[in-house]
Amino acid sequence: MSRFLNEKYSSLKPYVPGEQPQDMPRLIKLNTNESPFPPSKKVLEVITPEQSSRLRLYSDPECRPLTDMIAKFYKVMPSNVITGNGSDEILSFCFQAFCPNGAVFADITYGFYKVFAQFYGIDAQIIPLRDDFTIEVDDYAQATGTVFIANPNAPTGIALTLDKIERLLKQNPERLVIVDEAYVDFGAQSAVELLPYYSNLLIVQTFSKSRSLAGARLGFAIGSDELIADLNKMKFSFNPYNVNRLSILAGAAAMADVKYFDSCRKEIMAIREYTVAQLKCLGFTVPNSSTNFIFAGYPERFSGQAYYDFLRSRGILVRHFGEPRTTDFVRITVGLRSDMDEFLSVTSEFLEGIE
Ligand SMILES: *Cc1c(COP(=O)(O)O)cnc(C)c1O
Repeated sequence: MSRFLNEKYSSLKPYVPGEQPQDMPRLIKLNTNESPFPPSKKVLEVITPEQSSRLRLYSDPECRPLTDMIAKFYKVMPSNVITGNGSDEILSFCFQAFCPNGAVFADITYGFYKVFAQFYGIDAQIIPLRDDFTIEVDDYAQATGTVFIANPNAPTGIALTLDKIERLLKQNPERLVIVDEAYVDFGAQSAVELLPYYSNLLIVQTFSKSRSLAGARLGFAIGSDELIADLNKMKFSFNPYNVNRLSILAGAAAMADVKYFDSCRKEIMAIREYTVAQLKCLGFTVPNSSTNFIFAGYPERFSGQAYYDFLRSRGILVRHFGEPRTTDFVRITVGLRSDMDEFLSVTSEFLEGIE
């Protein structure tokens, strides 16, 4: 720490991203929930030399045609959509703008919520998941701060049904509920259809998981005209050109290619179901996943760290979260079927080794 850093950031604990090895000699990377499939061919087609040469110009601060495509896909107006440099940027604006009475989120959820709360000096009310890692929405009834719900939740993979989300919205119409749907395309139901009925609902999504564009850094929010106008106020006070020219084109093309999107997510769900069934056969505890990752452990036999280390030594990268309640588990991104077969065979070997 230099002597120039503002004292208020001296104890800031930044987010720790999963490892991103830049050259991967035969590593199987199942640690940051990226898609194993490349972006749509339509994406590759729009990133032309001509478009690249236009990088000399600033990008469109309104991010058209991307916002228009998102609006069309979700059957809302473009004024109900804002795009960001990853959904992390949108979430950051939400913490900064919408939490005058604090923020409320689960003890086990997306790790960035805690970081943003600390970054902006926001009081965080932490509501523990139940013992089976589920969220009980009634536990939020008395909470007055802005609620952040990852649905499905990470790293557990468990989804809430829409009537549970609706119940959360009804608890207090004066309290904003932000639903982070980073993984919703892998088997959960989006709350977008509730928007006409609840003005205290904001939905955040990303192109990083189901649309194979993690490296393009693209996220978006959908909400009332007023909420989106507020978020635009934040954006235009921070970085009006927050999404670069090529990502705007890439995102619009990915949104338009519904067929490819559907085939990728269906295949990932099928590979997930196959992998979960195999893990359960081996004796693992696996909560029901509605995401592109699997949260798995075998608390009676080994620690998450030992399993992580063994997989790592065999060139398979997964994620281990060492918090007390998650330490017995690892989070495994669903990769190609061949990746998962390799993962399962190394897992069997690990189990044999400890017998
Ligand atoms: C991956 C993820 C994000 C962030 O996605 P980016 O768009 O890549 O910034 C947000 N929320 C959750 C729950 C995630 O898992």
